[in-house]
Amino acid sequence: MGDVTGFMKYDRKDFEKEPVEQRLKHWKEFIKEMPEETLKTQGARCMDCGIPFCQSGCPIGNIIPDWNDFVFRGMWEDAHKRLSKTNNFPEFTGRVCPAPCETACVLGINHPPVTIKNIEVSIVEKAYQEGWVKPNPPKVRTGKTVAVIGSGPSGLACADQLNKKGHMVTVFEKSDILGGLLARGIPDFKLDKAVIERRLKIMEKEGVKFKTKTHVGVDLSAKELQTKYDALALCGGAEQPRDLPVEGRDLRGVYFAMEFLTQQNAINRGKKIEKEERISAEGKRVIVLGGGDTGSDCVGTANRQGAVSIKQFELLPRPPKERAPNNPWPQWSFIERTSTSHEEGVERDYCIMTKKFSGEQGELKKLHGIRLEFGTPDARTGQRPMKEIPGSEFSVDVDLVLLAMGFLGPVRNGMLQELGTELDGRGNVKTDKNKMTSVPGVFSAGDMARGQSLVVWAIHEGRAAADGVHRYLMPPAILEK
Ligand SMILES: Cc1cc2nc3c(=O)[nH]c(=O)nc-3n(C[C@H](O)[C@H](O)[C@H](O)COP(=O)(O)OP(=O)(O)OC[C@H]3O[C@@H](n4cnc5c(N)ncnc54)[C@H](O)[C@@H]3O)c2cc1C
Ligand code: SF4
Repeated sequence: MGDVTGFMKYDRKDFEKEPVEQRLKHWKEFIKEMPEETLKTQGARCMDCGIPFCQSGCPIGNIIPDWNDFVFRGMWEDAHKRLSKTNNFPEFTGRVCPAPCETACVLGINHPPVTIKNIEVSIVEKAYQEGWVKPNPPKVRTGKTVAVIGSGPSGLACADQLNKKGHMVTVFEKSDILGGLLARGIPDFKLDKAVIERRLKIMEKEGVKFKTKTHVGVDLSAKELQTKYDALALCGGAEQPRDLPVEGRDLRGVYFAMEFLTQQNAINRGKKIEKEERISAEGKRVIVLGGGDTGSDCVGTANRQGAVSIKQFELLPRPPKERAPNNPWPQWSFIERTSTSHEEGVERDYCIMTKKFSGEQGELKKLHGIRLEFGTPDARTGQRPMKEIPGSEFSVDVDLVLLAMGFLGPVRNGMLQELGTELDGRGNVKTDKNKMTSVPGVFSAGDMARGQSLVVWAIHEGRAAADGVHRYLMPPAILEK
């Protein structure tokens, strides 16, 4: 802890962003790097609070105060070494994590918290620039083989950890590209796909094998994989979107958010889309249903495509601007957040339920909704009863509706059905404390086991599953060494 009074001397500074009108003209990232001197003073704001709540706020337990201090002292390589101990992919989390660490920062009780996420991404980018991130294959191989199914952040973290322990790992991915939602769902302006490629190349050089266009349970039997590999790790995500089964759902113009987002990401990487399959917001009035990350990504994408207007409707009430008394520090703060996509232009509205869509000749024309009111929370469940406000029915002209209302869990047909893995009460793959499923030797991690979540949780889960697989594969005598 270098500067004990840093938190009193320096104000929080966030990364500068390209102005909205400029960044809307392209699909690239638009955050500007911060000079090293400014980063040092930002690191100096970390106040040696004694109990680093930020570290417990971070799902992977990043040792944040240590690397803040290294950055303050200009010891960037040490900062990178410390960061790499807990995080396989800081270049992903440093870009897209909602930073629960910052809502747990002690300075955040009565001041703007330390810019932990920005420091994290600056450390790893400096490490790449300096050549400190390089292939480091394991010196000894165990002779054990593991198949990881799914190449999202959980599958990649699991593969990376297992490979480091000396096991031979093959990652099977049904898509033509690797990275899961990092590559296909999250827009390029939040996460440049070259950032994923850069990491994948290192993993390949370290010995991880990747097989794309291989749908396990469909074009490759999961049972066959069981016979060929010593263990399996299922990291297939939570790919079942929540639908809106109301009248008019099948009109042309109503799509799942993921249909829209994956198509734009595919176009950005050079894929040709037939005109009749193209889902574009250009010149259209757009309504996004759902207020989360996916909805916000639809807003940013629709603005870049040239939508004439964008509304985002949320079923739940508008969150407060500041923490409510029942949501104290260091908990994750349930407040209204304005993403960079929101800054680019959207009209947000809350307490709205969509009742139906109507159209002409199969083409969407209107959304019909009603306003809702919420009662006081139930003392036991905390849930607020919801009721429609009589006479508040309305309809609005719209050309494109994007359904971004979350995901219902993993796809059950195919791989899961074939293996017979048990599901938990929420329909996710049930695992024990070692992340092993009900089928011996078959493990699961990420959104597939946890339900729809965050990249940082997927990395945490992937690492935990790798630990479980390692314990399962290695004799106790070796584990004790
Ligand atoms: C649009 C969108 C934006 C998001 N933005 C953010 C954000 O900004 N920050 C954040 O922290 N989180 C964000 N999230 C959530 C985050 O992306 C996920 O929680 C995370 O990617 C889950 O990782 P995963 O590895 O478990 O699954 P996924 O990333 O879903 O990867 C699963 C992979 O498994 C493959 N697969 C599935 N079944 C099979 C099979 N049978 N055979 C072969 N391959 C298979 C899939 O093709 C996929 O590539 C966002 C999610 C979405 C949808
Ligand atoms: S991974 Fe997320 S929670 Fe953890 S230190 Fe980075 S930004 Fe914070």
